[in-house]
Amino acid sequence: MAKIFCVANQKGGVGKTTTAVNLAAGLAQLNQRVLLADLDPQGNATMGSGVNKATLEASIYEVLLGMSDIRAVRKRSEAGGFDVLPANRELAGAEVEMVELEQREARLKNAFAQVADDYDFILIDCPPALSMLTLNGLCSAHGVIIPMQCEYYALEGLSDLVNTIKKVHAKLNPELKVIGLLRVMFDPRMTLSQQVSDQLEQHFGDKVFKTVIPRNVRLAEAPSYGLPGVTFDPASKGAQAYIAFGAEMVERIKTL
Ligand code: ADP
Ligand code: MG
Repeated sequence: MAKIFCVANQKGGVGKTTTAVNLAAGLAQLNQRVLLADLDPQGNATMGSGVNKATLEASIYEVLLGMSDIRAVRKRSEAGGFDVLPANRELAGAEVEMVELEQREARLKNAFAQVADDYDFILIDCPPALSMLTLNGLCSAHGVIIPMQCEYYALEGLSDLVNTIKKVHAKLNPELKVIGLLRVMFDPRMTLSQQVSDQLEQHFGDKVFKTVIPRNVRLAEAPSYGLPGVTFDPASKGAQAYIAFGAEMVERIKTL
């Protein structure tokens, strides 16, 4: 049975999609069976996995609204070695259309139940908002991975996310927990990065992942080739870090 994780942070541009795509590819390299679900209407995780969001017959939108079967909608990322539940801008309408549906926060969870045996990991790339889409992600998941940049405002907004997770845990999904904070786009030459990183460790202890993802231009270049950074330049520091993070997650799920 798959372990299901949201990659979430309501801020944009903090490295959610880069983390979701490269963790998926890193886990695939470790022979894990992975489904990457794109829950952001921008479809960046879809494109970054080499799946064309413009030519989809159906997407996660149809799955959420009960119009298509998840097994028919998932696509293979040949580039990454994992499956993708793709998204495009159609998904932006789901928010409103789901309001009238029963169990509207459990749509994704119910869809995942049909394919959970096919995977070791299901990863969800969440949109930059605490919306009904993100709520569907949180209701379906065992845990949340929170990517953070080590900068002055990093902790701002974290309490909103943590409070949302606590509410979902209390009311909708008792399995949900924060698995960890992942330091991303880390620049060891910046004293501030190091200071914030140290503070995170002091404050959150083993809720901070051991792996640190460096700022690495190869990770930023890879999506324009429709490739995860891990396959685009496997020797790069960024790729190596995400493979190490994959190994850390494989270890971590043994204790869940
Ligand atoms: P989000 O999904 O949270 O909006 P993205 O993953 O799209 O964030 O990242 C925002 C931008 O930062 C993108 O241009 C991405 O390529 C870049 N980026 C993310 N992680 C790294 C990294 N470790 N090194 C360099 N650039 C990165
Ligand atoms: Mg994104």
